[in-house]
Amino acid sequence: MNRPTSAVIIGGGIIGGSIALELAKQHIRVTLLDKGEFAKEASTAAAGMIGAQVEIHQPGPFYELCKASQRLYEQWTRELHELSGVSPQYINKGIVRVALNDEDEAELKSRLPWIDGKWITAAQAKSLEPGITGQVRGGVHFAQDHQIHPLHLARALRGALSRLGVSIREWTPALRLIVDNGRVTGVRTTDGDLYADEVVLAAGAWSPALLEPLPVHLPVFPVRGQCISVRMQAPAISATVFTKGCYIVPKLDGTLTIGATQEEAGFVKKPTVAVISELHAKACQLVPALSEAEFVATWTGLRPGTPDGLPYMGRLAEAPGLTIATGHFRNGILLAPVTGLLMQELVTGQTPSLDLAPYAPSRASGVSVN
Ligand SMILES: Cc1cc2nc3c(=O)[nH]c(=O)nc-3n(C[C@H](O)[C@H](O)[C@H](O)COP(=O)(O)OP(=O)(O)OC[C@H]3O[C@@H](n4cnc5c(N)ncnc54)[C@H](O)[C@@H]3O)c2cc1C
Repeated sequence: MNRPTSAVIIGGGIIGGSIALELAKQHIRVTLLDKGEFAKEASTAAAGMIGAQVEIHQPGPFYELCKASQRLYEQWTRELHELSGVSPQYINKGIVRVALNDEDEAELKSRLPWIDGKWITAAQAKSLEPGITGQVRGGVHFAQDHQIHPLHLARALRGALSRLGVSIREWTPALRLIVDNGRVTGVRTTDGDLYADEVVLAAGAWSPALLEPLPVHLPVFPVRGQCISVRMQAPAISATVFTKGCYIVPKLDGTLTIGATQEEAGFVKKPTVAVISELHAKACQLVPALSEAEFVATWTGLRPGTPDGLPYMGRLAEAPGLTIATGHFRNGILLAPVTGLLMQELVTGQTPSLDLAPYAPSRASGVSVN
């Protein structure tokens, strides 16, 4: 394979943006398309946790992938800051994951043999975070699970891409892939046809429709998450506090992000009062002082879900010229640096530094390549 000199990336979220960054650093001419504004979908609806420990429920390659990305994160955000002048607001305070009932305690303790964290008693959890409820049964302090502010990360990434000469074309939907003699050679957009040596599909929950000219179906689907932002006069917690079904993430501007639901409701992004009030009730159960919090905002985002919960990253032998990076579900913020790096290695013809076999697009049960 010849080393590509140009690439078109479909999808200006954190995944498309992180790939654009790595390709531009390799002096590849990159055009990044988005149907709307840069990073205005799932990537800025996120809470911003870099939660390799808290999010993963079993050891294995995916846990290793998450930890690899977590290790890259601080340096990655520093690089974005240097290139853009915008701080992604990296906070290294860790996550206190607590159990409030028997079942959750048992599930959390079952992870102890392989996670990077030790069990802490209820008293220890309370001394770390006095604002949490007296009902807590104990938990785990995941010291390595840091966080960023997604809105600031998106601004920093955008600034860095512009600095590196990436052409960011907003409000330019990709309509379909251009396929010539079996090879993907470009993208038809509302603003004309664009040709490039490589096309990268990173359109999050919207990715499947763009594969239509190929005999391929990727079962990526939208999973809605609703969040609330609140403010308190005195900060109730200093680190992220997380329990089953609810987390509270304190931001540098004094707000607290409460998240998040997990609903399969198609592409509908409207927040719903019943769900938001239930989420607030859960948060108050975890940190009672939140019942007095000032309401700031609510929002929703569509995570790109997959049937097995793993992303699709790689190529299909039958669709040369195309690289797929989608389906990062609950962990796209965490996985952005490693995804950018691995996809750059793939596109430039190197052997990826981590095994991509578990994420092969061809594993999708719905994939049929004739
Ligand atoms: C409420 C919530 C909380 C979350 N919290 C966290 C967290 O704490 N930590 C974490 O790691 N992850 C979190 N996530 C998950 C994370 O946000 C996603 O995994 C990640 O944003 C996926 O990034 P993406 O770039 O693939 O998708 P997106 O951000 O959705 O980007 C895809 C882009 O493609 C564009 N696009 C679509 N179709 C086209 C087209 N035809 N032409 C051109 N452009 C197109 C869209 O406009 C969009 O901008 C959360 C998600 C939600 C919803």
